[in-house]
Amino acid sequence: MSRRVRYAALAVLCAAIACNSTSPLENEPLDLAAKGGSGGKSGGGGRSALKADPLDVSFGSTGTTASVTLTNSSRKTLSWTASENAGWLSLGATSGSIAARSSQTVSMSVQRGSLAAGSYTTDVTFASSAGSAIVSASMTVAAPAEQFDVNPLQVDFGSSATSASVTLKNNTSGSLSWTASESSGWLSLGATSGSIAANSSQTLALSAQRAGMTAGTYTTSLRVTAGTAGADTAAVLVTVPSTSSVTLAGQLVHQFSGQGLAGLTVHYDGATTTTDGSGRFSILGDATSSLQQLTISGSGVYQRQTFARTGDNLWRVVPSGFSMTAYNDVARDEFGPGTVRWVAAPTVYIDSRPEGFTSSELATWIAEVKAQVPTFIHKWTGTQMNPAAVIVTSSPPSDFTAGTIVIHFSENSNDYGGNSNTIGYARLSYSSSGAIHSSAVWLRYLRYSGTSGASKRKGILGHELGHATGLGHMSGTTASFMQPSIGTNTDLSAFDVQAAAFHYTRSPKNTTPDTDSSASFLGMLAPSALPAVKEWVCAAGEAALAR
Ligand SMILES: [Zn+2]
Repeated sequence: MSRRVRYAALAVLCAAIACNSTSPLENEPLDLAAKGGSGGKSGGGGRSALKADPLDVSFGSTGTTASVTLTNSSRKTLSWTASENAGWLSLGATSGSIAARSSQTVSMSVQRGSLAAGSYTTDVTFASSAGSAIVSASMTVAAPAEQFDVNPLQVDFGSSATSASVTLKNNTSGSLSWTASESSGWLSLGATSGSIAANSSQTLALSAQRAGMTAGTYTTSLRVTAGTAGADTAAVLVTVPSTSSVTLAGQLVHQFSGQGLAGLTVHYDGATTTTDGSGRFSILGDATSSLQQLTISGSGVYQRQTFARTGDNLWRVVPSGFSMTAYNDVARDEFGPGTVRWVAAPTVYIDSRPEGFTSSELATWIAEVKAQVPTFIHKWTGTQMNPAAVIVTSSPPSDFTAGTIVIHFSENSNDYGGNSNTIGYARLSYSSSGAIHSSAVWLRYLRYSGTSGASKRKGILGHELGHATGLGHMSGTTASFMQPSIGTNTDLSAFDVQAAAFHYTRSPKNTTPDTDSSASFLGMLAPSALPAVKEWVCAAGEAALAR
């Protein structure tokens, strides 16, 4: 307790001394003279009759002049001399005398000349018979501005950026010509030479191409030279992501020609990109093994909505010139609406037992059907499938046997809705997911016997196999093998060929204009225990029979 009180009293006492010491009138010159010249700044300021203010002079990097005020606090005139040994500092006077209790100003100036960049400090000592004062002077020399500058000196494209730039700066008072070079295979320069006006800047565009590069980070040196004004080298980096970080990459092609489609928008897993000149695109991100929605759109095509996962790489897009109305008519409207199709190649059975007739031609007809079935199946599935087998038998599988198309020869009108004008009949069963389960076809060939009926017989078979592969009747006017009246048609129309290609390069239950259902997407089909059934009776389309 008592010690603390004593410290407090001492502090007050010291403050009183300090206060007194600042009063020049209380200083004793002789006493101060004895203490002068000690060299320390505090010592020089405390008891010396010669004081300097300020004690620190900073010129910074640009200042060139300053001044110090010397004060003589004694009762007699003081002579002083100044000394310093820095080559860069000059004093307005190096000696002088100051009348009693008066002041004098001494100027200082800095000459940086060709000094190296850096910080410089020196002490200026003002000495007198009544003490001395020491002033610290400092200044810096900045690095000289480059005449030619490239900024920034490192450019990193990262893993996805394709464009960047550097700024070229001419710090001289004349125009500068420059040239740029680099030797990587992946960096392109917007220009390799140019000219920059005095004290101006120019932007040099850079672009990176990652195509064909293996994963990794690449660095190249971009060297830009401007003659005697100098040169700079910038490091340019690009990262090519590993395939594990590619969410989706591939090509969009014309549904029918297979040509790449440029400029289409691809939206996948939250990201959007545009196809290049060959229809290719790449979306970077985390690879995904689960199906994500993929949407493709753009001018000149129908929007396609489907599903994809990393590793899928080709998508067909239907051009807007294709009649979606006709396609809906023949392939969708009767089924939900949405397409139905085989998802695995069916086995075709030809029932060799004639129903309701006898004909010496039956063996010929069986041979014809056996020969024609594979071609029609191939065409109606858009060339995606061939029959697993074509089997002639007198004991075909029972009705609605999964995976089968059974073809019968019949003259029993009950097989044709009781209508004598009908010459073919088809029945199709399919699951709720749109996968065809089974099919059966009845052919009424007898009225088209002989060589003259051969093309009509072929027409009936081809039309009925259209039903057996998932098509209904074409009620519109578009030329089609699937018009309800077969007429003289013997093959698929141009529209039918395109429709079949569209039909069998999509999952079942594809809805208009081109939308796949996640529940029916290929690879996720669940067999249905209760297939739906559709059937058609098909007319000859001949005037004599239409009466
Ligand atoms: Zn029909």
